[in-house]
Amino acid sequence: MKSVVIGSGFGGIASALRLKAKGHKVTIIEKHSDLGGRARVFEKNGFTYDGGPTVITAPYLINELFELFNKDPKDYIELAPLKIWYQFIFEDGSKFNYSGNEIEMKNQIEKINKEDVLGYEQLVNFTKKIFDKGFLELADIPFDKPFVMIQQLPALLKLKSYKSVYSLVSSYIKDEKLRRMLSMHPLLVGGNPFTTTSIYGLILYLEKKWGIHYSMGGTGNIIRGFEKLMNEVGIQIINGHEVIKINTNKNKITGIKLDNETIIEANNVICNADPPAVYEKMLDERANNSLLFKWKKKRMEYSMGLFVYYFGTKKKYENIEHHTIKFGNKYKEHLDDIFDKKKLNDDISYYLHRPSATDASMAPEGQDCFYVLVPVPNNQSNIDWSIEGEKIKNLVIKKMENDLMPKLRENIVEDFYLTPDYFEKDLNTKYGSGFSIQPKFSQSAYFRFHNKSEVYDGLFFVGAGTHPGAGVPGVLSSAKVLDKIL
Ligand SMILES: Cc1cc2nc3c(=O)[nH]c(=O)nc-3n(C[C@H](O)[C@H](O)[C@H](O)COP(=O)(O)OP(=O)(O)OC[C@H]3O[C@@H](n4cnc5c(N)ncnc54)[C@H](O)[C@@H]3O)c2cc1C
Repeated sequence: MKSVVIGSGFGGIASALRLKAKGHKVTIIEKHSDLGGRARVFEKNGFTYDGGPTVITAPYLINELFELFNKDPKDYIELAPLKIWYQFIFEDGSKFNYSGNEIEMKNQIEKINKEDVLGYEQLVNFTKKIFDKGFLELADIPFDKPFVMIQQLPALLKLKSYKSVYSLVSSYIKDEKLRRMLSMHPLLVGGNPFTTTSIYGLILYLEKKWGIHYSMGGTGNIIRGFEKLMNEVGIQIINGHEVIKINTNKNKITGIKLDNETIIEANNVICNADPPAVYEKMLDERANNSLLFKWKKKRMEYSMGLFVYYFGTKKKYENIEHHTIKFGNKYKEHLDDIFDKKKLNDDISYYLHRPSATDASMAPEGQDCFYVLVPVPNNQSNIDWSIEGEKIKNLVIKKMENDLMPKLRENIVEDFYLTPDYFEKDLNTKYGSGFSIQPKFSQSAYFRFHNKSEVYDGLFFVGAGTHPGAGVPGVLSSAKVLDKIL
């Protein structure tokens, strides 16, 4: 059995490894010269910048890919649990150290609003129920038939999945700061907390269950570990080439065509590239000519775009935690502007990553390595990023100088940034969205892009646009779905 995987994101690599473990002959193809997709690494002047994922949760999903081949993950990667998971900074300058230590969590909540301590306990208990159903039971099962979804509907409704995450959290928590903090998780997978189905409240519990980890050497070190493993077990890696067509014969997949005209024959093609790009650019009309599919695709809503500014400083900012989240004043308005009105708003919220807080190897001695991520509209906005990119960069530097890092600008020794144009053009993602389609109820499970094509035998999809969705645990679970279908 010969299988070709298009794209080397976490979902593509996990699929390649799972199929190899089943005995397939596997080739993985990546358009860039380096692997990882959103998790690729940019190395510049002694600074190591992880391009995307930094918060590693559910580490067993990573470890089990090594274990499929009886390898010890510790020979490849090192995952270190963090004590403080996120430091939240609110509009009034107050801070909250969010962690897995329940005593410290409750002490801090009590200082903000006594009544919310009980509400917090109840919220955690409720998210455990969502987690048990939504993650443990459903994250890695195929949702390619409507009856699978219909079967699950009563349970999902009982778990109040018609509510948004923010509204679920608000039913337990009174204080607005705590509401924001405890409902921010959809942002990690491309959703607006005010509209994302409360199923995603499960992330709050998932973090508690296995902790938040950092991959020593950066998330890129996990990709390097997987690359080593793929070479050892005999997976063929073709990088620096783009798949331009998926070949078919009647109802069957026959292989793919590369940008250098090479044809590779295969029984199965697994697409880790963003599904809309695959349907629009690599497949013929037949693949999506059913009325239902056309309707579904037309009404799909895409996740927000991301402006990511990577920078190194000549001094260390010891006061900055590994993960910092700063909320803007007009948080909800900012999110409405990004998701609905598709326009920029100066009152930004941002996430700041400082890997050198945990791992000195990420920056030259005595220096610090950062990225700051600002959610922005995706490219449905028609924003000209060649003009706006520089403006957002200056805005976020100014905000960080005011909020946390005095005289930041004069300490920056090098920098660069990515906008939704990078996600659209370099990563082939529709509208340059950061996380493919949004995690709304109407776009969850059966309503996402299916993991198995309805039209062609041998055509499969994994990664952020498919079930269960974006985020490293999500895309690794999508490869488990594939494992079950094949
Ligand atoms: C800035 C940022 C921060 C994030 N932070 C976190 C975090 O802290 N924790 C977390 O869990 N998640 C995080 N995420 C989300 C997570 O990174 C993604 O959901 C996940 O990595 C996506 O993996 P994927 O398998 O869908 O593939 P992708 O990473 O999207 O990779 C797809 C690959 O396919 C390739 N490709 C596309 N078309 C072709 C073609 N025609 N031929 C060949 N190759 C092709 C692309 O080049 C790309 O390499 C973050 C994402 C971003 C962008």
